[in-house]
Amino acid sequence: MTTERIPFLDLGSAYCELKVDINEALLNSLASGWYVGGPELKRFEHAFAGYVGAAHCIGVASGLDALTLALRALDIGIGDEVIVPSNTYIASWLAISHVGATPVPVEPCEDTFTINPGRIEEKITSRTRAIIPVHLYGLPADLDPILNLAHAYGLRVVEDAAQAHGARYKGQRIGAHGDAVCWSFYPGKNLGAFGDAGAVTTNESALASRIRRLGNYGSARKYVNDERGYNSRLDPIQAAVLQVKLMRLEEWTARRRARAHQYLAGLLDTGLILPIEPTWAHHVWHLYVVRTLQRDRDALHAHLSAQGINTLIHYPIPPHMQQAYADLGISADALPIARRFASEVLSLPIGPHLTETQVEVVIRVVRDFCLSQH
Ligand SMILES: *Cc1c(COP(=O)(O)O)cnc(C)c1O
Repeated sequence: MTTERIPFLDLGSAYCELKVDINEALLNSLASGWYVGGPELKRFEHAFAGYVGAAHCIGVASGLDALTLALRALDIGIGDEVIVPSNTYIASWLAISHVGATPVPVEPCEDTFTINPGRIEEKITSRTRAIIPVHLYGLPADLDPILNLAHAYGLRVVEDAAQAHGARYKGQRIGAHGDAVCWSFYPGKNLGAFGDAGAVTTNESALASRIRRLGNYGSARKYVNDERGYNSRLDPIQAAVLQVKLMRLEEWTARRRARAHQYLAGLLDTGLILPIEPTWAHHVWHLYVVRTLQRDRDALHAHLSAQGINTLIHYPIPPHMQQAYADLGISADALPIARRFASEVLSLPIGPHLTETQVEVVIRVVRDFCLSQH
């Protein structure tokens, strides 16, 4: 029995480690007189674009807004279809719905959890306009075949990188492979603000200007409205915090990677299906998701909780089985892999402030459970 609970993610320690720098950044931001827009926001946008290797970064209010504004800026709307993974957080689908288009789900690969590129082509119709690969759990989707398909069919690629800050595909950071790359800085993400925040990165200048305008009431010049836009901007106070955290991101990712490797070594022979890092990927381990193929997921979840270890399920109900999408009329069995994953997955604690000792404890408790199940 452990004395102190092992949290799923320790955000308090993240603040403590950077407290001096964050406090200073916050005070400077308050004193600057800029509470929407301004130089602090510009600095962060510039730094983040540079980090991910994109020409432009546009701060917005959330990851969902990033996706929605990117789709709108690409003129995707009513009557259009957008291909999206069946196995993702519902926000990837909601953005498609919010612009009036229809999500067309494609099942994931069994070993990577990300969209199966081999099953996309069969879903392309005359109405298909875009593909949204989601770099789920911190692992980039296999982008080359997706980009090739998009090129062959004249489709746009909007990446959902909400869980993939710093991840690399074939050596290159996620940030500008597709037409637009959408980021969330929700507090629990690998790069997290102190509230909601998001961004889009892109290499296309015209697209960048349009997204910026759409997030600012459809206005590029004050009180001149070129189109009907939204109010979706990244607060400078959040940008100030993100700027400090961005400087630590590589180091914090390295710590996540070390914990993931520890899990891999410690859980190899438990019968659990462990997450993989394909040779072409640099995984940033937003989540460490195991699958309980021959074991009872809910029993493992309860056992860990009873032993003081918090785990979560990402995600318990796939989008097509949510009430929100009942009107699409997709039967639960139409997407059997997404449906099955929802009953098999369990996310073990991971984060830059999870210690080696804590991972040892988790490994021991998981092993005890698996052995007792034989
Ligand atoms: C968090 C997340 C989003 C939404 O981001 P918000 O900032 O919470 O709106 C979208 N897609 C994925 C895969 C996410 O994990």
